[in-house]
Amino acid sequence: MNSVRLLPVGLVKMEDRYSRQILFAGIGKEGQARLRGARAVIIGCGALGSAQAEALARAGVGSLRIVDRDFVEASNLQRQTMFTESDAQDRLPKAIACVTRIALINSDIETHADVLDVNHTNVEELIKDCDVVLDGTDNFATRYLINDACVKHNVNWIYGAAVGSYGVSMTVRPHVTPCLRCVFEEAPPAGSSPTCDTAGVIMPIISVVAAVQVTEALKLLTGQIDKLHNALMQFDVWSNDWRRIALKSPLPECVTCALGKYETLEAEAADFAAAMCGRNAVQISPQKPAELDLNALSERLRALGEVKVNEYLLRFGIGEYELTVFRDARTIIRGTDDISTARSLYAKYVGT
Ligand SMILES: [Zn+2]
Repeated sequence: MNSVRLLPVGLVKMEDRYSRQILFAGIGKEGQARLRGARAVIIGCGALGSAQAEALARAGVGSLRIVDRDFVEASNLQRQTMFTESDAQDRLPKAIACVTRIALINSDIETHADVLDVNHTNVEELIKDCDVVLDGTDNFATRYLINDACVKHNVNWIYGAAVGSYGVSMTVRPHVTPCLRCVFEEAPPAGSSPTCDTAGVIMPIISVVAAVQVTEALKLLTGQIDKLHNALMQFDVWSNDWRRIALKSPLPECVTCALGKYETLEAEAADFAAAMCGRNAVQISPQKPAELDLNALSERLRALGEVKVNEYLLRFGIGEYELTVFRDARTIIRGTDDISTARSLYAKYVGT
């Protein structure tokens, strides 16, 4: 018999959906119930964030918040598993594309998409009420911001990074294990580290790092603290070099977790322009969040150059530059890595 019986939407039984996970001794029925009541925040929904979101959604984590500032491009599709060609064609914000896909995977959980740039004005609000934060970002500035906010509010977070065939992960339990600043006192200087845009990246290392991050999240959310790896884990899937550097206590002199100084949260709000490493682009965020009327702006710009607009963003080509303007007035300017040129274009075409 080859017939296939499909259950109507909404009739997928809980015990069927999670039965293999409940059979697993580390989770069981009680662990599954804990996952259902858990809230996770994924900051950055590129390759790592995509893999984390899919795994946590399938595992039945009850509430997922996806935060990302960028939109889907064709060059993402090789490794960012939440996105499709049509997402890239429509230039959908990654957070929106991700929660749309999750709804198809598991309609039984709550999701929330935030299309925004994580900075010191919003990071505490984003993380303070959740049970775990997963790092899906691609830059150290945001990771130190997450570290400061999570240590201040006593929220567990799981660092992860990948470039080329190399990746790294570490779980931070504030005041119990070393924080990011205990291990790396300062971020590497700008331009000194390879990025996915300069050195490339292959998907298998994404899968490895995300798998370790997600497993740590499942242990934390189900209370299996003694199973955490308590290490700085390093992997190179091309040169076959896997390392586990054991971690002990937080550093007694750490400015963040010992002295309670949260430098990145106290930064002056003046400068929100940042070159996007390796992308010949600059991002500008307004000091105060705005709510732009993208259709009105598109009418203003239409006479000057090519304009495309959808519900979430506007794209405007002018000479060698391309401006992508989001509803909150944040703008990514391609064609330059010079911040003052970008500010000038922003002031001219978006307005400050
Ligand atoms: Zn520390």
